[in-house]
Amino acid sequence: MSQQLTKEQLISITNQFGSPVYVYHAEKIEEKFNLLSNAFAACNARFFYACKSLTNINILKLMHQLGANLDCVSINEVKLGLQAGFEPNQILFTPNCVDFEEIEAGKNLGVHINIDNISILEQFGNKYGNTYPVCIRLNPHIMAGGNFKISTGHIDSKFGISIHQMRHIERIVKSTGLHVAGLHMHTGSEIKDVNVFLQGLEVMFEMASHFPNLAFIDLGSGFKVPYHEDDYATDVNKLGQKLSEAFNEYQKETGKSLQVWFEPGKFLVSESGYFVVKANVIKQTTATVFVGVNSGFNHLIRPMFYEAYHRIENISNSNGPERIYTVVGNICETDTFAWDRKINEVREGDYLVFYNAGAYGFEMSSNFNSRLKPAEVLVKNGEALLIRKRDEFQDLLRNQIEVL
Ligand SMILES: *Cc1c(COP(=O)(O)O)cnc(C)c1O
Repeated sequence: MSQQLTKEQLISITNQFGSPVYVYHAEKIEEKFNLLSNAFAACNARFFYACKSLTNINILKLMHQLGANLDCVSINEVKLGLQAGFEPNQILFTPNCVDFEEIEAGKNLGVHINIDNISILEQFGNKYGNTYPVCIRLNPHIMAGGNFKISTGHIDSKFGISIHQMRHIERIVKSTGLHVAGLHMHTGSEIKDVNVFLQGLEVMFEMASHFPNLAFIDLGSGFKVPYHEDDYATDVNKLGQKLSEAFNEYQKETGKSLQVWFEPGKFLVSESGYFVVKANVIKQTTATVFVGVNSGFNHLIRPMFYEAYHRIENISNSNGPERIYTVVGNICETDTFAWDRKINEVREGDYLVFYNAGAYGFEMSSNFNSRLKPAEVLVKNGEALLIRKRDEFQDLLRNQIEVL
C-alpha cells in the first residue's frame, strides 16, 4: 500500500499554517526506507541518507529512528547530523573542493571521511598516516544521470579522483601508509538503468584490488523516482538482486567480503513532499492563460534550474473542468513552473499542490526579492506538526549591519 496525503489533509494544513507551505509525510519516508532495506536485504548494505536533499532536523531525527546513516557534504551538515543524534560512525562526510581544515574538522568529530582529490589525500596521508581510515571518491568516467547538470561521473566533472590516476593514488598510499577503508563513486542523479550501477561496480572491483584493507564500496546514489504518471523509477529490487550476485561472485574469486554503501537523497524524501501554493491571479494574455501563484523560484527552483517536471493539481476545485494553464510565480524574473498544463479550472484563491516536493525543494529556497521562506510541516501518525516557522519580515534584516 502506497502512502499518500489526501487533498482534504493538504487543504486543512494550508488553512491552519498558511501558504505557501511545504508538507512532508513521515510514513511515506518510512515506506521508501523499508523498500530499500528489503531490496538490498541479500547484500551487506548500509544506507546513508544524503541530507542535502532536505535537512530539517526533524527529518534527520526521523531517518535516525528508521535506522538510516547520514551522508553529509558540508561540515555544517555533519554538525546537524550529530545534533540529530547520529553517532559519528553513522556519518559519512563527502565534501567537494573544501579546504584541508574542513576535512580535519570532520576527522576531529570522528566521522567517516571521503576524500575527492589528490592534494587533500596527500596532505591527509602526510599528517595522519595509517591512524585514521579514509574512503576515496573515484570518478569512474561513466556518463549517467537525468541531465548534464546532475551528472557527476563524466570526464568534465569536478567530482572525484580519476580512475586513470590510480598510480598516483597508490604512490601516496604507499609512501604515507594511509589506511584506505572504502572506495566511493556517485555518477549522478536520476539513473534509470540498473546496468549503470553494475558497470560502475565492475570498475570499483578492479580498483579494489589495489587496497588490501578495503571494507566497503560506496555506490553513491542516483536512484530515480517517478515525477509523472508514465515516468519510470530505478528498479531497486532488480538492482539488489544483481548486486548481491556480483558481490557473491567477487567474494568467491577473492575471498573478500565487502559491504556496499548507498547515499539516497531523492529516493527517500522526494515523494514524501507536497508544496502548496495559492493562486493569486488568473491573467489572460493574447497567447496563454497564466496562473500567478504566491511563490516562485525563490521557493522551488527545480523547474527553472533543471527544467524539472513537477505534477501540479488544483486541490480546491478537483472536480472543475480541465483547462490549459501556464503556471508562473510572483518573482520579478521569468519563473515559469509549468507550461500548458491541464489543471482543473483555477479560480483566484485556489490552492495548487506541487508533488515530489520533498527533495531539493525547501532546501534550495532563498529570500530573492525579499520574499519570505515558507513554513515546513511534518505529518506523522495523522498529526500535522509545524517543523519550521514561516520567515518573518525581521528575518530579512538578520545579520545585516546598519552603518548609515
Ligand atoms: C547529491 C548526492 C547524493 C544524493 O543524490 P540523490 O539523487 O538525491 O539521491 C548522494 N551522494 C552524493 C555524494 C551527493 O552529492
